[in-house]
Amino acid sequence: MRAALLSKFNEPWQVKDVPDPRAEDGQVIVRIEACGLCGTDVHVHHGYIPGIQLPIVPGHEPVGRIVEVGRGVMGLKVGDRVGVSWAQQGCGRCRACQEQREGYCQSSQSWMQLGGGFGELMRAWARGCTIVPEGLSSEDAAPMFCAGFTVMSGFRAADPKPGERVAVIGIGGLGHLAVQVAKALGHEVVAITGSADKVKPALELGAHQAIPAGDDAGKSLMAVGGADVVVSTSNSAKHVSQVLGGLRPEGRLVNLGALDGPIAVDSFQLMFPPRRLVGASQGHRRDLVELLGLAAAGKVKPKLEVHPLQEINQVLDRQAAGKVRFRSVITYPRA
Ligand SMILES: [Zn+2]
Ligand SMILES: [Zn+2]
Repeated sequence: MRAALLSKFNEPWQVKDVPDPRAEDGQVIVRIEACGLCGTDVHVHHGYIPGIQLPIVPGHEPVGRIVEVGRGVMGLKVGDRVGVSWAQQGCGRCRACQEQREGYCQSSQSWMQLGGGFGELMRAWARGCTIVPEGLSSEDAAPMFCAGFTVMSGFRAADPKPGERVAVIGIGGLGHLAVQVAKALGHEVVAITGSADKVKPALELGAHQAIPAGDDAGKSLMAVGGADVVVSTSNSAKHVSQVLGGLRPEGRLVNLGALDGPIAVDSFQLMFPPRRLVGASQGHRRDLVELLGLAAAGKVKPKLEVHPLQEINQVLDRQAAGKVRFRSVITYPRA
C-alpha cells in the first residue's frame, strides 16, 4: 500500500510503498477514505509524544471501509464505514476498563501500536472502531474522531443546562466545532477570539455574538453579559486565566487546549462568585457517537481544506505555521 512513513523525527515524511497490514484476532483492516491532520501530528513529527516507535505510519483521525475482519470480531463486517479513535482497546483489567471506560486505560492501544490512517490501509482493533452514520461524508467525519470528540467530551464535562449561555474562546480547529455544537444543543453562543479576523467567521459559524478577547478576555466577556459555560480551545494560558473572570455565578470553564504555560487562578475568582475550572479530553465513546449524530443531521460541519497524500508534508508545514482554516484532511481515491 501507499503510505506516509515517519522514519526520523523532524524530517519529511516519506510517501512510499510499504507492506499491506493484515488483521490479527480481534482486529480489522480499514481501507482509508479520509484522515484528518491536526496539531497533534505536528507534535508527533517533532517527537513530543512519548511512546512512538519509528518508523511508523501516523494518522489518528481516520475514516474508511472495513475490507478484512480478523477472528473473534463481533458486530463489524466487511463494507462497514467506520472511524477509529485514538484510544482503541484497553487492557481489560484495570479499574477504568472494568468500568467500561477503557478510553481512560493507562495502557490503551492506539495507532502508535498498530499504525495510523496516513496510508491506504490501516489495522485497528475492532473495539476502536465507531460506525459512521449514512449521510455524513468521510471527509467531514474524520475530524470528528479527534477535534470533535474532544469538544463533545468538553461539553459533557462542563454540563451546560438548557437555557444556559455558552462562550467559546479560541476559534480554530476545535473552536469552530464548539460554536456549532453549542448552537446545535440550543444554547446562546458567544465566540471570543484573539485574532480580530476571526470575528466574522465566528458569526458565520452560528455564534450569536463574536467579540475580540481584547486586553482581558474575562472583562470582555463580562461586558457582554458573561457566560454560564466557557469552552476554551485557546492555546493561550493568559486568555484561559483571564476568561475565568467572565463566568457567571456557578459557571464552569472547561479547558481543552494544550496551553503555552500554566493557568493562573486567583482563589477569589473561584469563590466570589463560585466557579469551577475543569479539564477534559476525549472521554466516553458515547460523546463521539452523539457528535457523529449531530454531524449527520447537518448541525455540525467542519470547515476543511482537503489534500491528497502526496501533499502531506506541505499540510504538516501549514498546520505547524497556523495557516490551516480550520481543519485539514488527507483524502484517498475511492474504489
Ligand atoms: Zn487530532
Ligand atoms: Zn485498562
